[in-house]
Amino acid sequence: MADSSVSLKGSVAAAAAGTIDIERCRDDFPVLRREVHGKPLAFLDNAASSQMPEPVIRAYTEYHSRYHANVHRGVHLLSQEATAAMEGARETLRELINARSSKEVIFTSGATDAINLVMQSWGRANVGEGDEILISTMEHHSNIVPWRMLCDEKGAKLMVIPVSEDGVLDMEAFASMLNDRTRLVGIVHVSNTLGTVNPVKEITRLSHERGIPVLVDGAQAVSHMKVDVQAIGCDFFVTSGHKMFGPTGIGILYGKQELLEEMPPWRGGGDMILSVSFDEVLYNELPYKFEAGTPNISGAIGMGKAAEYIMSVGYDAIHAKEQDLLQYATEQLQTIEGLKIIGRAPEKSSVVSFVIEGIHPHDIGTILDLEGVAVRTGHHCTQPLMDRLGIVATTRASMAMYNRREEIDQLVAGLRKTIEMFR
Ligand code: PMP
Repeated sequence: MADSSVSLKGSVAAAAAGTIDIERCRDDFPVLRREVHGKPLAFLDNAASSQMPEPVIRAYTEYHSRYHANVHRGVHLLSQEATAAMEGARETLRELINARSSKEVIFTSGATDAINLVMQSWGRANVGEGDEILISTMEHHSNIVPWRMLCDEKGAKLMVIPVSEDGVLDMEAFASMLNDRTRLVGIVHVSNTLGTVNPVKEITRLSHERGIPVLVDGAQAVSHMKVDVQAIGCDFFVTSGHKMFGPTGIGILYGKQELLEEMPPWRGGGDMILSVSFDEVLYNELPYKFEAGTPNISGAIGMGKAAEYIMSVGYDAIHAKEQDLLQYATEQLQTIEGLKIIGRAPEKSSVVSFVIEGIHPHDIGTILDLEGVAVRTGHHCTQPLMDRLGIVATTRASMAMYNRREEIDQLVAGLRKTIEMFR
């Protein structure tokens, strides 16, 4: 089959159990070899988009160069190969998040699109006037705006779980906010701004005690930690390919089969139907019911290959590597006078946001870029969180499994230079 011809041979970066062979791993990511402004690239913007390893790039381009064809309807070989590769990717992604069935894995254009699907389909059918949607202060705009839109349309209320100054979710407040009018809890698994890892299993348990479904925004989780949707128990889980070493423009919605079966389709068109007349439409079975039109085939294949790559390295090794980087970055950044770390939750993913007194994050980001260091600056699509913390923006360094301590050193040296320039 076309897809399996791109193997992970020679690119499996796992060394001894639980560790990463960092040189081999970095070798898999061609972009890491490049220079920026004459300096070696220190890529610390993984929370925005992580880089793609060779097997993903090869799987992606192989589809275009060898078997580019539309899926599901073709009787010719190329179409059959494309269909097998795409459905193979769906199965790999099912395995990655431990969904019960690949019928529960719907391809979308990303996490944002997946949340919008739930809002448009489940939300519009199940939320009415006076009902409440419960989200948290640390949500990404993509898990705020769709719900704000729904609440405006339906006359429902958007309720917000508070977070502490350190960026920890207030679980007591959460428990007390659940009530008979709560229709859905939407919670980010890992905050893209703070790195906070939220107790999604406990949140789901408490919500389910009252029969309330839970949507987990896992955009920042899948590349860092083992996600088991059955163990979490959540009803919906969303993520994006480009945050987990895959391509852009592709993502998945996981939904429990019973729920997805009940939900009306949102987009209408080809592929999501069994039969069409001008008077009546019979919808296709899961997952196709929610996949109208020609999908992002190469994106899906690339995302599946990225999932395979992650599993070949192993979450134990990824976690150990990233926690070391997080600890090292936290220690080193604290040695800089006037720097304040934003987000000090006890359980954090490898994200460090910070502000430096008297210097705007955009200036910091611009100077760091000239030093070869790629970080993100701004509100990180979490404006309400910024308001809560009384700041307008942060500088954010976000690490992935392929980063090295030397890149943190490069960041710290760049920051010292920035501070010198502003003195
Ligand atoms: N949720 C979180 C926590 C994110 O970090 C992001 C991307 N920054 C999204 C959702 C949206 O992802 P996408 O833009 O790929 O749809």
